[in-house]
Amino acid sequence: VTNIIVSGIRGRMGQSLAALVRDQADQLRIVAGCGRERAAGADAERYGCPEIVPFEDAADVVEMADVVIDFSNAEATRSLLEAAGNALHGRALVVGTTGLETDTDRALQALSEKAAVLIAANFSIGVNLLLGLTERVATALRAERYDIEIVEAHHRLKVDAPSGTALALGHAAAAGRSAQLQQLRQDGRSGDTGQRPVGEIGFHAVRGGAVVGEHRVLFLGDRETIELRHEALDRSLFAEGALHAAQWLATRPPGRYFMSDVLGF
Ligand code: NAD
Repeated sequence: VTNIIVSGIRGRMGQSLAALVRDQADQLRIVAGCGRERAAGADAERYGCPEIVPFEDAADVVEMADVVIDFSNAEATRSLLEAAGNALHGRALVVGTTGLETDTDRALQALSEKAAVLIAANFSIGVNLLLGLTERVATALRAERYDIEIVEAHHRLKVDAPSGTALALGHAAAAGRSAQLQQLRQDGRSGDTGQRPVGEIGFHAVRGGAVVGEHRVLFLGDRETIELRHEALDRSLFAEGALHAAQWLATRPPGRYFMSDVLGF
C-alpha cells in the first residue's frame, strides 16, 4: 500500500483524488490531508482521510507518508515547503499546483537533491502527448511564416492565468524554435499594439462557467492554420494521472522527475 498525504484535500482536485483512492483501497491510502483548518474524526473522514492539519503543521504528519501530493495554491505550497521541507527528505512529492512563485520553484529544485520531486502542470496523457507534438510542429513550421497563439479556457474559480498547461505548451513551442519563452511571451493584446513581432507566442485566457480545461495551440500561416487542441472532460483525468505518478515516484531515489519519465514518452 502506498501511503499518501493530500495537500489541498478540501479542494476540487483534493476531493477528486480522495474519491479515486477510496476505490483503490487495496493499493492506496490517504493517511492525512493538509488544508486551511484542522479537522479530525468524522469532520476529516467526510473528506476521505483520518485527519486534516494546517499547512504550517505538515511536518507532524509527513512521516506517515510515502508520498505527498499537492494540489493547493501558490501560497499554500510555499507554506508546505517551509513547514515540511526537511521532513520530506527521503520521501516523494508530487506537485500539481500551478502559478507557483519563483522562490517556490527554487525550493523545489533544492528539495529534489534529498527527495523524489515531480512537478507537472498537467497530469493527463493527452496533454503530455500534445507537449511533444507542439515542439515538433514548432520546429517544422518556421517563425517567419507561422505565428503561434495559445488559447486556454477554464472555469470561473481558477485563480491564475495563463494556465500552467498553457505555459508548458508555450515552453514546448519555444523549445521547438530553439528559443526561451521569456523572450517571446505576450499575454493578451489590447489597444495600440502595433504589428505582431515575428516569433511572438501569444497567450489568451478565457474564464467562465464550469470548463474543466481546454487548450488550443494555433499555428497561423498565410494560407493555412494548424490547430492542436485538448479538452479535459473530467477532473478525475488529472487525479488519475497524479495518483499514477505518485505510485511511480514513491519508489524512486531523490531527483527531479517529469511526467515524460512516468509515461515513457
Ligand atoms: P481549489 O481552489 O478547489 O482547491 C485548493 C485547495 O487549497 C482548497 O482546499 C483551499 O482551501 C486550499 N487553499 C488555497 N489557498 C490556501 C492557503 N493560502 N492556505 C491554506 N489552504 C489553501 O483548486 P483546484 O481546482 O483543486 O486546483 C488546485 C491547484 O491545482 C491549482 O493550482 C490548479 O491550477 C491546479 N491544477 C493542476 C492540474 C494538473 O494536472 N497539474 C489539474 C487541475 C488543477
